[in-house]
Amino acid sequence: MRISADRGMTIVSTLAVAAIVSAVCLLRPGATFLLPPCPLHALTGLYCPGCGSTRMLYHLVRGELGMAFRDNPLSFMTLPVVLYGLVRQWLQPNSGVFTRIHPGWIVAFGAIVIAFAVARNIPAKPFCRLAPGGECRAALVQVR
Ligand SMILES: [Zn+2]
Repeated sequence: MRISADRGMTIVSTLAVAAIVSAVCLLRPGATFLLPPCPLHALTGLYCPGCGSTRMLYHLVRGELGMAFRDNPLSFMTLPVVLYGLVRQWLQPNSGVFTRIHPGWIVAFGAIVIAFAVARNIPAKPFCRLAPGGECRAALVQVR
């Protein structure tokens, strides 16, 4: 049996989303070794674009939308698009929703992810509000 690239991507994406959502429904991020902290942040102190995503899902499945947004605004805003793509692919298996994405959109999203990663590590307001939790650390530089 041969699985198309779209179908394979749908299955892998669905399993990944289901595993992550299941984990955050059952486990509290940071309180178990099954949901470890970000290795980049642990090693360097820098926030990667995904930092706070697990906590974002944790708060999201509990209906805490504000806290979910503060933990990772980019993941929070991207999640509906990913879920739309998964649902559409399941309902219309041959729609090619994943393989027909224009390369320009992929490049644009990559640029947004890089800009987000850089901005959330700038230790000054308002950029530090993009860090997980949305709170600027007390020692950060205050821009007036
Ligand atoms: Zn990270």
